Amino acid sequence: MTNLEKLIRHFEKFPGIGSRQARRFAFHLLTESKENVAELSELISSIQNAVSECPSCFRFFSRYGNEIECTICSNTLRDRTKLLVVERDTDVDATERSRVYDGLYFVLGGTVPLLDSREDIKVRGGALKHTVEARLKDGLKEIILAFGINPDGENTARYVQHLIRDLIAETPVTISELGRGLSTGSELEYADPETIKHALQARRRIA
Ligand SMILES: [Zn+2]
Repeated sequence: MTNLEKLIRHFEKFPGIGSRQARRFAFHLLTESKENVAELSELISSIQNAVSECPSCFRFFSRYGNEIECTICSNTLRDRTKLLVVERDTDVDATERSRVYDGLYFVLGGTVPLLDSREDIKVRGGALKHTVEARLKDGLKEIILAFGINPDGENTARYVQHLIRDLIAETPVTISELGRGLSTGSELEYADPETIKHALQARRRIA
C-alpha cells in the first residue's frame, strides 16, 4: 500500500467520512503549503498529550497545567445541582454556545441503539453511576437527559433512566428531558443556540 493509500485509509475511519471524501482530503493535502501541512501534522501528533479526558464528565479538555478535572467541572460558580447527560463532546460545545445552562455535564459516549441486541453496550453506564453518586454528595437535584429526538435517543434515555433508578430512589433527584424546540430527528450537535436554549427552558420532568 502506498503512503497516499494509507492516508486515505486513515481518513476513512473519521466519523461520517466515506471513501470519496477521504480521497478528497488526501489530495487536498497535496495542494496545501508545506508550512500548513507541517503545522497540521504537528497538531495531530501532539493532540493526545495536550488534551485529557475529564474523570467526572468525560469530555475532552485542553490541559494547561496539572489540573485533573475540566474547566466546567472545576468551576465552583457552576450550578452543581444540575447534571445534563449528552451523547458526545460536541453536544457539550453546542449547549455551552446557547449560554443558558450553568450546570454540570456527563458525556455518555454514544447512544444505545434501539435495534441492536448486542449485550456489550458501548456507553459509559458504569461511569455515569459513579458520577451521579459523587454528585449526590454535592447536592444534585436534577438530571437532564439531552439525547437526539430519534428512536436511538429515546432508547438511550430509557437505558439511563433504568440505570440510575435505584441510585436516586431515596433522593429528591428528578429526571427531565428536553422540551419542544428540537424537532423530530434532530440532534443537539446540529441545533442552533436559540433552539437549544428553548428546548432547555421548556424541559419537562419525566421521573
Ligand atoms: Zn468535566
